[in-house]
Amino acid sequence: MMDCLFCRIIRGEIPSKKVYEDEQIYAFYDIAPMAPVHVLIVPKVHITSVNEVTEANSKVIAHIYEVAARLAIELGISESGYRIVTNCGADAGQTVFHLHFHLLGGAAMNTKMC
Ligand code: AMP
Ligand code: ZN
Repeated sequence: MMDCLFCRIIRGEIPSKKVYEDEQIYAFYDIAPMAPVHVLIVPKVHITSVNEVTEANSKVIAHIYEVAARLAIELGISESGYRIVTNCGADAGQTVFHLHFHLLGGAAMNTKMC
């Protein structure tokens, strides 16, 4: 999508600190980290939110989780623990409308879900 922020980051039009990339997904450090490790993992295909996930495009999500598990090891948080968060819509605080998974770790987190 032309003016989607994360599509532009994926195309390299906006700089980002890349953590991982393959043909399906792109991972980069969040610009305003909320934990010592805060990485965003996004599908390269533009999917607006979880609301737009269907049988036709959901394979990439399993791939994102496979890569998240590997990145957690590489980033040193697999044993201490981490959280993977996806916000969907206004009440959840989604601000960028390109599906993304926050990989958060490196410190004990609030155990309240909301
Ligand atoms: P959400 O609120 O779940 O939609 O998350 C959007 C995330 O994108 C926030 O954590 C922002 O800090 C992050 N973000 C916004 N712009 C950038 C950027 N240019 N590079 C990296 N992360 C960004
Ligand atoms: Zn996009």
